[in-house]
Order: sequence, then structure tokens, then C-alpha cells
Amino acid sequence: MSRLKLPTRFLMLAALAAGAALGQSKQLMDEEYAKLVKEWTTAPQFMSPLVDHLPKAPGIPTTKDVLGYYVGQPKKLTKVADLGRYYRALAAASKRVKVLGAGATDEGREQIVAVVADEETIAGLDQYKGYLARLADPRGLSEPEARNLIALAKPIYMFIGGLHSAETGPPEMLMELAYRLAVEDSPVYDQIRKNVIVMMTAAAEPDGRDRYAEWYYKYKLAEENENDRVPGPPYWGKYIFHDNNRDINYSQVTMQNWLKFYLQWHPPIMHDLHESQPLLYTFSGQTPQNPTLDPILYAELPWFSEFELTKMIGYGMPGVWTHAFVDMWSPGYLGFMASNHNGMLRMYETMGNGGANTMRRTVGGGGPPGMPPDPDPAASPAEPPADAGGRGGRGGGRGGSMTAREWYRPLPPPRNIEWSMRNNTNYMETGVLSALELTAAFSKTVLENFYKKSRNGIESGSREAPYGYVLPAGQKDMTRVAFIVNILRMQGIEVGQAKAEVKLRDTTYPAGSLIVKRNQPYGRLAKILLEKQNYPDPNLTTYDDTGWTMGLMSHADVQEIADKAILDVPVQPVDMLTVTGTVKGEGSVYAVLHNGSNWLSTLRYRLKDLKFEAIDQPYKNGAIDLPAGSFLLPASPRAKSEIEKLGLQAVALQQTPDVKKHLVDIPRMAVFSTWGTTQDVGWVRYAFDHFELNYDLVYKERIRKGNLRSAYDVIVIPSQGRGGGKALIFDIESKGKPYAYSKSADFPSLGAYGESEDITGGMGLPGVAELDKFVNEGGVLITLGAASFLPADIGITRTVNAARTTAAFYAPGPIVECEITNPNHPIFYGYTQRVVPVRWAGGPLLTVPAEERRRAVLAQFPGQDKSVLSGLMRGVAETRNRPAIVDQPVGQGRVILFSTNPAYRWQNLGEFNMLANSILNFNDFPKPAPPAGADQSGR
Ligand SMILES: [Zn+2]
Repeated sequence: MSRLKLPTRFLMLAALAAGAALGQSKQLMDEEYAKLVKEWTTAPQFMSPLVDHLPKAPGIPTTKDVLGYYVGQPKKLTKVADLGRYYRALAAASKRVKVLGAGATDEGREQIVAVVADEETIAGLDQYKGYLARLADPRGLSEPEARNLIALAKPIYMFIGGLHSAETGPPEMLMELAYRLAVEDSPVYDQIRKNVIVMMTAAAEPDGRDRYAEWYYKYKLAEENENDRVPGPPYWGKYIFHDNNRDINYSQVTMQNWLKFYLQWHPPIMHDLHESQPLLYTFSGQTPQNPTLDPILYAELPWFSEFELTKMIGYGMPGVWTHAFVDMWSPGYLGFMASNHNGMLRMYETMGNGGANTMRRTVGGGGPPGMPPDPDPAASPAEPPADAGGRGGRGGGRGGSMTAREWYRPLPPPRNIEWSMRNNTNYMETGVLSALELTAAFSKTVLENFYKKSRNGIESGSREAPYGYVLPAGQKDMTRVAFIVNILRMQGIEVGQAKAEVKLRDTTYPAGSLIVKRNQPYGRLAKILLEKQNYPDPNLTTYDDTGWTMGLMSHADVQEIADKAILDVPVQPVDMLTVTGTVKGEGSVYAVLHNGSNWLSTLRYRLKDLKFEAIDQPYKNGAIDLPAGSFLLPASPRAKSEIEKLGLQAVALQQTPDVKKHLVDIPRMAVFSTWGTTQDVGWVRYAFDHFELNYDLVYKERIRKGNLRSAYDVIVIPSQGRGGGKALIFDIESKGKPYAYSKSADFPSLGAYGESEDITGGMGLPGVAELDKFVNEGGVLITLGAASFLPADIGITRTVNAARTTAAFYAPGPIVECEITNPNHPIFYGYTQRVVPVRWAGGPLLTVPAEERRRAVLAQFPGQDKSVLSGLMRGVAETRNRPAIVDQPVGQGRVILFSTNPAYRWQNLGEFNMLANSILNFNDFPKPAPPAGADQSGR
């Protein structure tokens, strides 16, 4: 050994020693990367030894090689096609990487997942898929066989990035993670590649990713601090913003595709990467916890989060915390599909800047720019908004000052910081690498737990009541039963149909009834979705809805079964349940029964050229029994075919029955949307599109143009404007310069669903005057939920007032009783019960003068303790006898104020008919009596 070589050797040994400690190796490093990320990282404590370097691997491209920049470069956001381009280039160059397709989005963009593991694992991916599928459904597997499988299997750890489009960092970080996992040499990386199959979405909401990135390049490049914020784009995905993480019934195609992907691959861990909290919050499953989920899950969650804290605080990174934000109550978050299917949902909130600019930020100073305001007005106004940064508080009730040292935040961050996309990347990537290190070290524990949770789920269903659920055949509208059954099926829950009568301890159900047995892998999920939500502690706040019971939401009969004999009932497995309609008898007139089906309105729209009448009152003649609101239309093969396809029930008659009836005209309808809160409008649009109701989507531009009555018969204002009428009218405050939302060659994703030269400013008072004129000239204005503050606050309905609940009131989306007080009103065609379940929508507490109540109030909230049917309502007495729906004649027209929201998140389909009925009978409401007392002469 020459003297010259000694220093080199010494350096190498030193490097190896350091490398061993840091998980690095003597690989050739990318010096340009190291220099740039150091420059982009705003302070040394925001960096970690896991990500301050990037190995070079001959022939394997970095993002710089493919896209021209490293991850975290200021002012760079990667669009969907480029994300795909990078992952495909990486997969083409490395046998450790593969790209899987997961379908196409609502707008037709591709959904892809990158997979990283060692070569052997990637080559045998299908085999590993098979092992996980077997562990996910361990029926018939002995314990030794299970142990064998666990020895062979590898867990999939799947990252979801970019579900919320303003949270821009995760899709960037994941590209670098994929590269690093593919090329970095060290025992830790070897172990991760060998023991774990890592998967990552390119972007979980590709439509929103492109739209947001274009908006960012158009308007947000100039932001330097919180005061420079510009409004976000009016849309992310096709219909909904933030609620893509609340799509419990998987209405959106993009979200359906992720569920399908999950059920093919069964990742035991799904890790959803969000940005709303400083600097990294790692979820550990706070109270309230859904007690139906396996106790193992609640042990695993803090196991992971504490390990991440241990590592990151060890690196000296401030602002990493856990145990304080978001709870384990609602099963409706996208990543919850893992917990719902015996895996584990993990979640981060890191601090994003709503783009890729480096910005001065105040920790605890509010959410990232571009975030929409809280979309859910259901909680008390005193509650801080969901996903708004820095305030914590909601869901777990803890968080406090973000810069305070707490037992769950041992190393708090400074208050004023300069923050960059690279800082955010460093935090996220260091966290997920730590999580992968833990998974790799304990991969068999993760698999054992996955198996045990699946096994326990089946066993609990054969050991504990309820043993199952019956959706009896013969319900008056089976299409809503089919809705429930098909969502259970989409979730992988087995449903069977009884061929014969089902005799159980207390009751007998007819042949054809639908049976959900609990002794199946996803029996617990069936229970969670179908049972009444018994909220455990009224003092606990929660992050989202407290109630979602599917039978109550759909107004369908779902029976919980305590008799174990249900498990032995012979059934025919149901793939998808389709309800075929019937037309009984022969004749020239079809009478289509108004049985509450939401497809009745579809029939009207599909046969728009035919004359439809609806009978005003029930009609009975011999065997013919028609409920009020039933349609009469000329018989034809085409009508018959549509009735059958839509699952409706009709009888053919020789002649039109002699009964009071009215024409069912299709109104010229507009749906009004602000530019600032399009989300709840999106849910109404989704329902209207699904049931094929025609409408124009209009914004302030059209309202202000006036002449509304000549163009429209009905204007629907979906729930919008958390602050009441004012928020709806003035919307996004003007910033002194216009923000156009329009399509161009550079920004092809903008201008979808409407265009505007300036999205700020709102309809203003001139817009309100046009709405007032519209109503007085004979139009029907329908306001839903929070939008019902508008006509009351502004005085379009002079005698109806709107009050707010007190700060003590707290009702995050429970299901409550609603009493129909005016059952003969056309709004209630198809409703046979006097008291029906509705979702509390956080709408106004309406008041109507006593002398008008009998006529104007169509339904009210009984507001008794027993009126809370599922979930939590604290302060129920505040709602006592408050109107739920008001029909107020104004001038020549009407205003229908729903304090409820009959088109909420594709959930409360039992309420939807109240909206559909008010649309289809818009010109057939009872004639108003002359106003008593209230002077309307001035209008
Ligand atoms: Zn988010």
C-alpha cells in the first residue's frame, strides 16, 4: 500500500462510516443535483441526509434528463403527460420499475401507477398480486397455509399524490422517490426493494392536476408571500374539488378507477399525501375511531407515525408532529379504501405553497394559496375550516399553536419562514423513505396484520351480531335498492339474492330479497356503510360527516339481522343488480307509478317530445292504484322500452282516467354557480347529468345580463356561500385586476364548464336585482342548503327570515327526521311516510310568519332528541319546528327554499325527488292565497 493511497483509503473509510450511518453509499453522485437542492432548500434544518444527494446510475434517467429539471426546482410544475413521460422513461431503462395503467379519468386523461421493487419482484409481479389477493380473502386458508403465504408474499405500499390539485408537491416528489428507490445503493434501499413493492400514482386527480398547473403558470408565478395570493382556478376535476376525497359512493370515474385498482392489487398500505399543515403532520388515527374497524389498525397507525417522528426529529427537522389532526370516523376519504378493506390508510399533511414558488410564510397563518374555502357548511360556523392550514382543531381537537412545543410536537417550527417546493419535497420524501424503511424491516408484520385483519373481519361476522343485512324484495322503488347493492358490489362486498322466501327468527322476507352476510372479508365495511352511526362522544369534534347510513340516505329499507341463521340462507351471488321495469296490461295510455324513483324524471326528459300529465291525487279503480304524481303518457313501444330500462312500473290503460291532472312541462332551467365555490354546484350537476335533467350552467355573467325570465322558467341555486347571502353575491373579492378563466392554446384545460373574463367580483347587487325580477315575473327560484340564506337575507322573500345556529350547535352531517307538513304538495309525490330521514345540511334556520306557516312550510324539523337518526347533532333543540322546505309565492313566481340539500355528494338519493318534483311541477304548485298581512304591492 503506497503512502499516496492512504488518504484516499482513509476518506473512503470515513465515507463508508458516514454512509452506513446515513443510509448512503459510495455510489457516484449527481453533483449538480446536490448543489441545486441545497440552493433551493431555504435553511439547513429543512434538509435531511436522505435527500441531499442523488446517485447517478448510467442509463437510468433522472427527471432532469427527461423533463429538463430536478424535482423541487422553483416555478416548475409537471403536467400529467410529462409525469407519464418520466415514469415510462424510467421503466424503460430500469428493470426495477414498471408502469401500470388504471383507466381513464372523467375527462379522459390516463391514470397510471408506477411500481418499484427489485428485479425479481417486478418480474414476478403477478405472483405477488396473487399472494396478496389470497391473504385479502383468507377463507379456506389454514393457519399454516397462511404462514406459508406470508413468507412468500411482499406488501404493496402505495402512495396517492395529487388528489387535491392545489396541493402540488406530491406528484413531483414521487418522481424523485421512484428514481431514488430504483437506483440508490445501500443496505436500506436493498431491503426496501427486496421486501416491499412500492407503488405510486402519477397524479391521483389528473384532470385537476393539468387545470391547476395551467392556472399556476397563467396567474400564480408572481406570488411571493401570503399577501400576494391570487384566487385558485374555478375547477379541479370535472365536478368536484376537495370532495374527491369525500366521494363515499365513488360517483367520479377517476375515483372508481382507483377503487378498481385497489381491489385488483390489495395494497395493505395506502398513503395519501396532502398539503395543509406545517411542516409535516403524520396521521396516527385519532378519536373518534370507528369501532367496527380492527383494533390492529389503531395500533399500526401510531407505530408508523412515531417511527417517522423518531427519524425526522433525529435529523433535526422541526415541525414534524402527529396525534392531532383528522380522526378515524368517516370511511369516505379516498385512501380510506385501504382501511375499509382490511389494509391501512396513512396520511400526511405537509406545507405546500399552492404552486412551486418560494414564499415567505407565517406558520399558523392559513392554508396554501389556491385552496378553496371549506366546502362543507354542515358543521357549526364556529368550527375552523377543513384542510385550512395552521388552525388544526378540527378532528381530534388538538393542534394548538403550530409553533408551540407540545408532547405531540416535540420540535416545533419557527413562526416566520421562507418556504420552497424543495423544502416540502425534502420533508415528504424523508418521511416516506422512513416509512418504507420501517415497512421493509417489518414487512412480515405488515403482512401478518393484513391477513389477521381480513381473517378477523370474516370471523367477527360469524361471531357477532349483526350477522347480516336484508334488503327486502318488493320495495316500492327497487332502483334505490339497486343503487345500494351496486355500491356495495363496487366496494368488493358480496351480495346474494335469495331464490326462496327467507324465514328468520322474527320476520319472513320474500324471495328475491338481497342478502349481505357479514362473514366475508369486507363484512365489516358492509356494517360500517349500512348501520346507524352511533357517534361515541358528543364532545368530540370530527373532520367530516358523522352520518352516512345508506338505507336512510336512500330511503330504502335495509334490515339489520341479529339472527345467525342469515349466514346459512342459500343465495345466488349478485354481480350487478339491474331492475327491469314493467308495463302491465294493454292499452293506449301508460300510467307510470310515482313510486319515488329518481328515474321518473329521466323518463320525462328522454321522452321530451311526448305529452306527459301527472295526476293531482291518488287514483284507485279496481286493481289500478296510482299514487299522486303518477305520469300519464301515450302508449308506444319506445315509451315501453324506456320504462323497462329505467326500472319503472307502469300499467297500460284503455283510456285516460277521469282524475284531476296537470301537464308535466319540462322547464327551461338554469343552475347558478359562483366562480369561487363550484363544488356543491358540481354535486348537483353530477346528479342532474346522471338523471339526464337538462339545464344551462350559468354564472354571474349571465345573471347580470338580465332578461332571465325570457330565457328560463326555473333557476336552481345549489348550496354555496358559507357566509350566507353575501358570499353568494360578492363571491371572490376583486383583486384590482381580472382573472380570466378561458381556454387557449397554452392553457387548453382552462375554460371548461364555463368561461369568464374575470372570475372575481360576483353577481353583485345588480345580479340580485335580476333574480328578484325573474321571480316577480313568474320564474321559480329554487335555493338549496346554504344558498337559502340569499332570498331570505336579501328580501326576495320578504316574510321569510333566516337565522344561524349558535356557537354551541354542532352537527357535522347527521341524518335527522324531517316531518312533511304539507303532504299534498307536488314536491312530495312519491313520498308515503309522514316523517322521512334527511341529511342535515347546515342551511339556515328559517322562520315564516305564523299566519303563512300552514301554506308556506312544506316540511319541518321535529328537532327532538330521537330525531337524530344517525351521526351527531349537538343542540338539536335549536332546529325544533324550523321549516325544512318553504314554498313562498313572490309576485308572479315562487321561491322554494330548501334548508336541506337534496343533492348532497351523491349520497341522499332519497331526498333527490323533492328537487326533481319541484322542477317537473314548477308551474303546478298550489295557487297562492292572497297574502295575509304582508304587503306585496310594491313588487
Ligand atoms: Zn388535501
